[in-house]
Amino acid sequence: MPKKHGARGDASRKDAAEATKLRGSFAHDSHPPAYAAWAGAAEWIEQRRGPDVAMPTIRAAAGVVTVEPGSPFNLAAVDPDLDGGLDKQDAKAMLAAERARIQALQERLYAERRRSLLIVLQAIDTGGKDGTIRAVLEGVNPQGCAVASFKVPSAEELDHDFLWRYHARTPGRGMIGVFNRSHYEDVLVVRVKGLVPEPVWRMRYDLINDFEHLLTASGTTILKFFLHISKDEQRERLEARIADPQKHWKFDPADLVERKSWDAYQAAFNDALTQCSTPHAPWHVVPANRKWFRNLVIARTVADTLEAMDPQFPEAAKGIADLKIPE
Ligand code: AMP
Ligand code: MG
Repeated sequence: MPKKHGARGDASRKDAAEATKLRGSFAHDSHPPAYAAWAGAAEWIEQRRGPDVAMPTIRAAAGVVTVEPGSPFNLAAVDPDLDGGLDKQDAKAMLAAERARIQALQERLYAERRRSLLIVLQAIDTGGKDGTIRAVLEGVNPQGCAVASFKVPSAEELDHDFLWRYHARTPGRGMIGVFNRSHYEDVLVVRVKGLVPEPVWRMRYDLINDFEHLLTASGTTILKFFLHISKDEQRERLEARIADPQKHWKFDPADLVERKSWDAYQAAFNDALTQCSTPHAPWHVVPANRKWFRNLVIARTVADTLEAMDPQFPEAAKGIADLKIPE
């Protein structure tokens, strides 16, 4: 009688066997019971701490630039028009395939319920964060995915340390979490607008690195994407929002004020990318003038990362296949 948990195609079973072989000592032969609380999962992570489990190797898709930890980085070195020489229609078909991979792997992550994935999206206004979330996560089981959009902090949020509101929204075990804007706003808009004194935002880079280290050491893989658009592209997108009544709701006159600080934002982005690209949570810069290319390379990086995490369905209880449900 086929077991429900194992009812996968031959190819994927072969791939899984291959992956298990590669992982060697990380084979899923010693899962603690499924009722283990967070403390149990932490122990599981502790035992397997190493490049393969707590911190899977993250390889960005071709066309994405991963910021080398410890090296100065300048966005001017990345062409936002890059499209990998791909055709738009082909890229859309490829995106659908990446989405299917994400959906299948997300089911495993959710079922395994030990680790989580945090996707951080940062960009200048109109950079495409919302569109990316729509395109990449379409079809993912909503129950296993939580998007947190961070706006101007509330009075209560401002009464706490700057990381408080972000920590509260990090994904729990089994979840994919998306930060639409993030803790980086506190060294970006806050710096550009001078909302706190310089010594206060200056110390935040280290605090952010420590925060992200805490998350990765606790079983959260962090994927940070910076969507890189040009100033001309921003003008076109703002014009489109004015020209199309269907897009009026997206137009925020404040974006025109922020646009005047374009250079100050680029400088703040460069510092955040330089100071907060770490081995455990590197930054990935995505050429984002072409929306379809941006969506494809982010989806592929997410799918590859989930695959490297290699979540496993929990071991079925012994004898489950022979159980008979009483009338
Ligand atoms: P949007 O994402 O376009 O809906 O806009 C959200 C607004 O909230 C943007 O103008 C951000 O700059 C602003 N924002 C987000 N986080 C912070 C923060 N920590 N401090 C001040 N402003 C923020
Ligand atoms: Mg906006």
